[in-house]
Amino acid sequence: MSAQIITVIKGDGIGPSIVDAAITILDKVGCNFQYEYVDAGLTALEKTGELLPQATLDAIARNKITLKGPLTTPVGEGFTSINVTLRKKFNLYSNVRPVISFKGTKARYDNIDIITVRENTEGMYSGAGQVVKNEGELAEAMSIVTREGSARIVEFAFELARREQRKKVTIVHKANILKSTSGLFLKTAREVAARYPDIQTVEMIVDNACMQLVMNPQQFDVIVTTNLFGDILSDLCAGLVGGLGMAPGANIGKDCAIFEAVHGSAPDIAGKNLANPSSVILASIQMLEYLGIKDKAQQILTAVTDVIASGDRTTRDLGGTHGTTDFTQAVLERL
Ligand code: NAD
Repeated sequence: MSAQIITVIKGDGIGPSIVDAAITILDKVGCNFQYEYVDAGLTALEKTGELLPQATLDAIARNKITLKGPLTTPVGEGFTSINVTLRKKFNLYSNVRPVISFKGTKARYDNIDIITVRENTEGMYSGAGQVVKNEGELAEAMSIVTREGSARIVEFAFELARREQRKKVTIVHKANILKSTSGLFLKTAREVAARYPDIQTVEMIVDNACMQLVMNPQQFDVIVTTNLFGDILSDLCAGLVGGLGMAPGANIGKDCAIFEAVHGSAPDIAGKNLANPSSVILASIQMLEYLGIKDKAQQILTAVTDVIASGDRTTRDLGGTHGTTDFTQAVLERL
């Protein structure tokens, strides 16, 4: 069988150092991947004059699997977010963000294991109808929710729950106020949930969900929700387990997927060997699970968990005094 080719976008800022760490680890456990390196964002802009060159888009489409470092979005008008563009272009409708409380971190709670499944292409982020009128006095934006878009994300969440032997899916909405958009999402979600009697379904209004997550997060298992609510709730969940340093995310479509850290390019610590590579390592674990390589995914997770729990060469954000390379070395020695 020919080796799986992974498209790699190293990104900028801390991106190249943390992506290199993840790749060294994937190689150490014998994944035998081939990597096709392409540019996006600032590095691409400098080399080609484009933020998202055609060659990059072609590689993402051809290889189907991409591991991506963070990309700085240049400040100024005319630059749309590359992440949003990629999600739309490849119809990556599911954004899957797992959070686990690792022993040895500054997590506020123990025993947290929550996966947020966020609709990635519709809702308030559809980009439709954005206008500023009346000489800047009135702004409008359109939220678009479809039955098809709602059904496929809720199905995705229930299938994930079944596959991972999870017990509960919480549908988060605001159908009491946003009767048309959130109303359609909830109605469709109920229809889909009825096909999964083996999984407990809970419905929760988004404001209550925020409070419940802060007060009693252990009650959550899988959360499924629309785009904007998912964006906010998944960062809230990252905060519960000690911040963005331990938060990976997968953008998954029908036949294409991009795995990345949730955090950005951290320009304040770039080039200083200070970044915690865990988020992108955890994203590469999500990638292995997606590819069905579960034994190697578990092997890496066990090694990372042990490094953090024992405080062996951890980075500053985890309370340690070491850098990216020492942390990576500590993980490699356990593989
Ligand atoms: P950021 O996530 O880059 O950094 C926020 C804070 O967290 C900083 O203090 C940073 O040092 C720290 N931090 C982030 N990752 C860390 C890590 N792995 N280890 C240790 N500390 C870490 O957010 P920002 O500063 O608001 O954004 C910087 C740039 O990144 C912006 O241009 C933004 O648009 C972009 N961004 C990109 C993505 C992406 O590509 N997925 C996501 C978010 C932000």
